Amino acid sequence: MISRFDVERRYLALKKEAEENGYYLNPDEDFDKELVHGLLSNRERYGFESCPCRLCVGPREVNLDIICPCDYRDSDLAEYGTCYCALYVSGDVASGKRPVEVIPDRRGPAPTECVVHGEGVAPRGAAKPAAAGPVVGSLPYPVFRCRVCGYLCAREEPPEKCPICGAEKDRFEKFI
Ligand code: SF4
Repeated sequence: MISRFDVERRYLALKKEAEENGYYLNPDEDFDKELVHGLLSNRERYGFESCPCRLCVGPREVNLDIICPCDYRDSDLAEYGTCYCALYVSGDVASGKRPVEVIPDRRGPAPTECVVHGEGVAPRGAAKPAAAGPVVGSLPYPVFRCRVCGYLCAREEPPEKCPICGAEKDRFEKFI
């Protein structure tokens, strides 16, 4: 059971984190708190805070891209001025210079059963052909990229938390 106190506490934490990292929450606090309630409900239901406006199917590893803040937040903020749910907004939207609009979902269809491996839910991206990435040189360490904010680091393992956006270790992907 999620209490108003839980919602308030999580909302304040998100707001503080946003302000410290150059992001803005939607100025409509009641709207934000409804979304925060959705995040907390998803945490209770699935064990992680998946996007309140998207369908979560399967385990955490299949839904990494929609754990809030999702992989699509920054691109949507840059292009449309809000994330898909409009919890995060750009400075222009926060200051009322730009209205909040309905925006398309960059995610595409939710993962479905038996897509690639014949059983279970296929991890998102599992069927992608190898992308033409940066040329691998003689780097002493692999380079990891935070899927949320794009932070890059060269080390043996990704950090436990992204120092820029706070995303957890499993939100990193091997970049080089
Ligand atoms: S950043 Fe916005 S769109 Fe992305 S998961 Fe969070 S609330 Fe949803």
